[in-house]
Amino acid sequence: MKLKSKQSTITRRQQFRLFLSIMAAFAVLFLTLGLIVFNSFESSTYKSIDKDIHTQVTSIQNQPTIKPDFHGPNNHFVDNKKPDPKAPFQASILVFNNKGKLLNKSSLGNRYSVLKNINLNKKNINNKQTIIVNNMNFRSVLIKVSKNNNNPMYAGHYVLIMQNIDNQMQSIKNFEEILLISFFIFWIIALVVAYFLTKISMLPIIKSWKQQTEFVNDAAHELRTPLTIIQGKLEYMLTKPNQKIIDEAEPISVSLDEVSRLNSLTNNLLDLARFDQATTKLNFELTKPEYFLKDPIVPFKDIINSQSKVFQINIDQNPTLNLDRNKIKQLLIILLDNATKYTPKNGTIKIYDQIEGSKYQFVISDTGMGISDADKKKIFGRFYRVDKSRNTNSGGHGLGLAIAKQIVANHNGSIFVRDNLPHGSEFVVELPIKHNH
Ligand code: ADP
Repeated sequence: MKLKSKQSTITRRQQFRLFLSIMAAFAVLFLTLGLIVFNSFESSTYKSIDKDIHTQVTSIQNQPTIKPDFHGPNNHFVDNKKPDPKAPFQASILVFNNKGKLLNKSSLGNRYSVLKNINLNKKNINNKQTIIVNNMNFRSVLIKVSKNNNNPMYAGHYVLIMQNIDNQMQSIKNFEEILLISFFIFWIIALVVAYFLTKISMLPIIKSWKQQTEFVNDAAHELRTPLTIIQGKLEYMLTKPNQKIIDEAEPISVSLDEVSRLNSLTNNLLDLARFDQATTKLNFELTKPEYFLKDPIVPFKDIINSQSKVFQINIDQNPTLNLDRNKIKQLLIILLDNATKYTPKNGTIKIYDQIEGSKYQFVISDTGMGISDADKKKIFGRFYRVDKSRNTNSGGHGLGLAIAKQIVANHNGSIFVRDNLPHGSEFVVELPIKHNH
């Protein structure tokens, strides 16, 4: 229980960390996106205002210059009281003399009450600036108009071109608000998404974690039993130091049995660990049932017959398969060993094959005790034994079928069990046939 609660705390912490990092990633993404969108909106607004101002500046500066001694008929005066049709609507023009006195008071009309608060600051010449007067925002530029300018109103004076930008400022502000609100909403959505993403992505980790812990626990448990027996037998023999070996044959042979059990268990564990780490190297070769099925099962005939059981072999298909013969041999040993173990005397063990579409199937059937439907799936799990007490006697650890399943999976095949009527079970192994094109 303690271990479990500690594990779930670690899992929860891990989940929380993952959640935070997803949220942080979303926040960084949204902020960057927001800043880029906002900046480009703001700068394009300012650009269009500055373009207007620039038009004004050039229209003021680029009027033909008058030669001082030229008084010909073509000399035309531009009446600055007539507004330039191209001039932006909200533009105001302030003309200052060298001393900073406002010269075009009359042309400003009622705007004068606001604009009179603006002083000439010669330092800002040719710099675009944003000025705030009476809570009104203006984008402005100060230029010095040449004395030769043909408009006497401007000639030789400082001209401050001001463009009211309250509307633009308001739309920037609105845009900023909309952006903030929509990003907040999206962030909340991201929060929910992140929560589920975290949950989903943690599922396989939690599952494999649990499996790993279970596997280690089971393995330790399986190792402990034979070790305890060996320890007991050795301690017992120590209490009889004067006995001859022949007198203590029983504890010695029991210990040896347990040692061989330990041996097979560690080999099985090693096999499974290698499958898990995908470090098992398979030696695939093109081969036929005659070589990977018929040959390896020959020795089984004698073993099975010696136990007063019948062994029938009906292998007559001849497809080509790509497989690792040693691994398939290991698979056959597991299945035939089980069939023999769980079939009583006078029972029949049969191996036969068939072709199903593009798959080659071989079936190992027995007339033994059979397997209940509930256990049919579970028996391929690690350390699963239908009847624990009985199987300890028969020497199994419940790892055989788990290894069998891995071997078949490594061959892109499948393995399943079905009932053999009227009693017993059938293990079906399905492997892909190699087609020669
Ligand atoms: P074990 O080493 O215990 O045989 P396996 O993984 O090979 O482990 O098998 C798991 C369990 O499946 C066995 O303990 C047994 O209960 C059941 N089983 C396997 N093969 C057969 C079979 N041919 N007939 C009945 N039960 C079987």
